[in-house]
Amino acid sequence: MLKFLKIFLLFSFFINLNLYAQSFDLIPLGIYGGGDESNLSAYLIGEKDKNEFLSLDAGTLRAGINKAIENQVFEENAEEVLRNYIKAYFISHGHLDHLSGMIINSPDDSKKNIYALPFTIEILKNRYFTNDAWSNFANEGDQPILGTYTYRRKKDQEKFAIENTSLQAQIFELSHINPYKSSAVLITNSVGESILYFGDTGADRVEKTDKLEKIWTEISPLIKDKTLKAILIETSFDSSRKEELLFGHLTPDLLNEELQVLAKKANQKDLKNLKVIITHLKPGGNQIQKIKEEYQQKNPTKVEFIFPQQGELMQL
Ligand SMILES: [Zn+2]
Ligand SMILES: [Zn+2]
Repeated sequence: MLKFLKIFLLFSFFINLNLYAQSFDLIPLGIYGGGDESNLSAYLIGEKDKNEFLSLDAGTLRAGINKAIENQVFEENAEEVLRNYIKAYFISHGHLDHLSGMIINSPDDSKKNIYALPFTIEILKNRYFTNDAWSNFANEGDQPILGTYTYRRKKDQEKFAIENTSLQAQIFELSHINPYKSSAVLITNSVGESILYFGDTGADRVEKTDKLEKIWTEISPLIKDKTLKAILIETSFDSSRKEELLFGHLTPDLLNEELQVLAKKANQKDLKNLKVIITHLKPGGNQIQKIKEEYQQKNPTKVEFIFPQQGELMQL
């Protein structure tokens, strides 16, 4: 009898958890992959209403925070949001459009961790937080060491906690113009829901790697149990661009191809209800319009394609 009671209590505990499941707040601070220096890849992710964010890349910080304040997403001033609400950074790779906002704002920032795979940390340490390029606001490298940021090198696929938040993370290596590397991060909240964010990446077929396939295999259980709330992944060019001119990026056709691999790994005929947030659009001509039209016309896995707006809160 006692055993049944225990099982019943455990069961109702989980039901309650689900009823009151906390979800994510996602605030895009920058959405483009070039062109407009006031709007480059950076997304604040945190548990709903907590104001404890991890910044997924940091191409643009201040202009995005100002936009969010204009939109009444934040009531505080930009300095306070930067210093107190952003608890840590994840930097996917060493390209400027993913980290220049962090470098430029470093003199005003508070002490926090930078989480990344070792190859990205080495670029920050040897190329940017140097006396030649700026000043060393991190904790290793050129003297004087100002120590605002602490490098946290993580192993591929190692699970770890994002300090000062209730988020867990796991980083995966990506190929971005093979052999140049980038990375993705799986963020999990306190009730086991996840968001998967990709830094720049090419398709496996074009890059001649299996980096994406490995991630699809790893996350397919989250598709089956419906705990993956969204994927943020890039589309830099429209599908008419020649594959040899993609420079480690995706097009609508290539992302659709990859999403079909994910559906297959999850043993599902489609990925209905999965939110796919398109990042890193490259401005130029009518390319962005073409990409949006392509996604309206071509969606073999029936996902929900979403185009984020700078400074607009998304609740996931
Ligand atoms: Zn980029
Ligand atoms: Zn890049």
